[in-house]
Order: sequence, then C-alpha cells, then structure tokens
Amino acid sequence: MAEVHKCKSMNTEEVWIQNNQDEWLLNINHIATEQDLEDNHYLEEVGQTIEHIAVNVSFCPYCGEKLVKMAANVVPSFIHTDYSKW
Ligand SMILES: [Zn+2]
Repeated sequence: MAEVHKCKSMNTEEVWIQNNQDEWLLNINHIATEQDLEDNHYLEEVGQTIEHIAVNVSFCPYCGEKLVKMAANVVPSFIHTDYSKW
C-alpha cells in the first residue's frame, strides 16, 4: 500500500502527498468549476479533473513535516497532465 501524507491544509482541496518508489510527490488536482465549464467547452461536468500536477518534495509545504528520512539527493522535477483538451 502506498504511503500517503495528508494534513489539515489539504482537507478542502484535492491535494495529497504520496510516496512512490522512495520519492515523495505532492499531487494537486485542478477541479472544474461552473466558470471553467463556461470558458472551455471541452469540459463536461463540474468536479472533473482539468489538470494534475505532481512535484517531488522532501518536506510537506503545508505543515513542515519531514518526509524524506535520509538526506537523499532530491532532484527537483514535476509531472503535468492536462485533461482540458482532446
Ligand atoms: Zn503536511
């Protein structure tokens, strides 16, 4: 089972930090609102994921908890997925 860090600041949004093969990734989903649907006709419903981003981190940026146990070399990177287009 994947290790997940989720703290108070993450309760209201689709945000979570997950361990993936010794790397901690801060994941954020951009969720469609009414306004997004009006602006972009490819979107189908409120609540659908428009974009997802995952950034590797050593600490939780919201509560400061240290996630990487050893002083591993963290090479900054991110993954961006755009679901707003065909
Ligand atoms: Zn936290």
